[in-house]
Amino acid sequence: MNIHEYQAKEIFSAFDIPVPRGRVTLTADQVERAAKMMGGHCVIKAQIYAGGRGKAGGVQVVHHPEQAHEAAKEMFGKRLITPQTGPEGLKVRRILVEEAVGIAREFYLSITLDRATSRYCLIASADGGVDIEETAVKHPEKILKLTIDPFTGLRSHQARRIALGLGLKGSLCEDCVQLILNLYRMLLEKDCSLVEINPLVVTKAGWLLAMDGKINFDDNALFRHWEYHDLQDYSQMDPLEINAGKFDLSYIKLTGNIGCMVNGAGLAMATLDVLKENGGEPANFLDVGGGATREKVAEAFKIILQDRDVRGVFVNIFGGIMRCDVIAQGIIEAAAEFHCTLPIMVRMDGSQVEEGKQLLLESGLNVRCVDTLGDGAAGIVKMLAQAEA
Ligand code: ADP
Ligand code: MG
Repeated sequence: MNIHEYQAKEIFSAFDIPVPRGRVTLTADQVERAAKMMGGHCVIKAQIYAGGRGKAGGVQVVHHPEQAHEAAKEMFGKRLITPQTGPEGLKVRRILVEEAVGIAREFYLSITLDRATSRYCLIASADGGVDIEETAVKHPEKILKLTIDPFTGLRSHQARRIALGLGLKGSLCEDCVQLILNLYRMLLEKDCSLVEINPLVVTKAGWLLAMDGKINFDDNALFRHWEYHDLQDYSQMDPLEINAGKFDLSYIKLTGNIGCMVNGAGLAMATLDVLKENGGEPANFLDVGGGATREKVAEAFKIILQDRDVRGVFVNIFGGIMRCDVIAQGIIEAAAEFHCTLPIMVRMDGSQVEEGKQLLLESGLNVRCVDTLGDGAAGIVKMLAQAEA
């Protein structure tokens, strides 16, 4: 789960990680008032669920309150397109007005899960700021990495090595050690899968400040943080993803044109692989889970049908716990509601499979049933080609 920069900074503050003075606003008038409070010279920052805002015009320095008003009027309601938003961009509905800080140096600092070692990994660089992706590619030697042992945790001598590696000395080095330890404590207490400060700056006045903030909460730990519910900004999310969340479906949007409804993540991965091998391009990954009900199957199918990129649907379900006739009913119900005429390929197996197939074939839908994954993948690619011919 994602949150906004201003929310991340509120959490940073609660863990004694210093941040610039700021105020979140919803209208250009509020921006102007906040700018006045900060003495006119300030930075206005678009709050969207994506980084790369600086280069896209989403972070602007202004010099007086009227200028802040003008800039905010332009920014509000605009769809900001950055390398992280996709081509459609994200709408700006909140703006963070922040004191303009004189920056002496910009660092990169983050802690995230490293899947290769199954551990948290601290990453830091003295070359932080808006070009960190380029640094990582062109000068990987400038990126410091530290794998954190979950039993000993992060020790201060390790944090000090990082701070020294960033070139910090004296009291700034000690401040950085404390900041890193606070960040790690926050990561654990708040169940984060990622915390990132880019840039972490040394100000001209000689202080360390977290100038940007990104936090991802681990979705598997959300059940023990009911307070996170209020932090979610649904306007920043794909409506289909929100719907999938409501019905506890794992839905991931991809770039192709074949909707894929599958049960179980492993089977879903295999389905995407075999589909691609047969020349098909998945439009999404939709896992209905192990013991899905007819209602859940119907909701999943509706989500697929509402995806504008979908030209055909591939259903690959193993009905071990689920009954195939119930799956068929769910598909038929959803397809009827959306007057679906798209080609549908169904590969089902398991209990009541014959009844399920019978229901589908008698439904009047443009549907075919097969017994194997290979036949299904090749079949839907062919059906799509025929439909488009
Ligand atoms: P993004 O990563 O989305 O581009 P940042 O918050 O990192 O957005 O801002 C981009 C750049 O703008 C920073 O690297 C920093 O140089 C500058 N910046 C951001 N906030 C401030 C601020 N309050 N005062 C001065 N400069 C800032
Ligand atoms: Mg940044």
